[in-house]
Amino acid sequence: MPGLEDLYREIILDHYRSPRNRGELPVPPATRVEGFNPLCGDEIVIFLSVANGAVEDIRIGGQGCSISQSSASMMSAVVKDKTVAEVHRLTNAFKAMMSIHVGGDDHGDALPDPDVKLGDLEALQGVVKFPVRIKCATLSWNTLAQAIDEAMASEDP
Ligand code: ZN
Repeated sequence: MPGLEDLYREIILDHYRSPRNRGELPVPPATRVEGFNPLCGDEIVIFLSVANGAVEDIRIGGQGCSISQSSASMMSAVVKDKTVAEVHRLTNAFKAMMSIHVGGDDHGDALPDPDVKLGDLEALQGVVKFPVRIKCATLSWNTLAQAIDEAMASEDP
């Protein structure tokens, strides 16, 4: 039986080697937002389509380390078809998981939400042991938050 850390490593490598929702969407109507993590050189490009307050479609581009790219792949898989409110809950739950062990870093007020299921994203919890890599894991979520803000702004009449 492989240990939990081996299992987590397998999940991360699977998303890194076979990224989900890789590609582009036509802009407009989709929103395109780029995120950059200068500490590691990670780049994430999100193409987001929001309709009726929910994520209709999402595509991911960019390049970087395995943590940043696998996190973006997992994020894209979990937010598809979710409402914007659900995406906010997922974002908070993920950031809470990434900040538990660093004692009140930039998201110190966030608490784990037991009702939110993170699925494959739980494989990234080992990253909290390497504080310099946390920004690799949260890059795609910060970029998504910006994309949702822009998509919602352009959806309003
Ligand atoms: Zn990185």
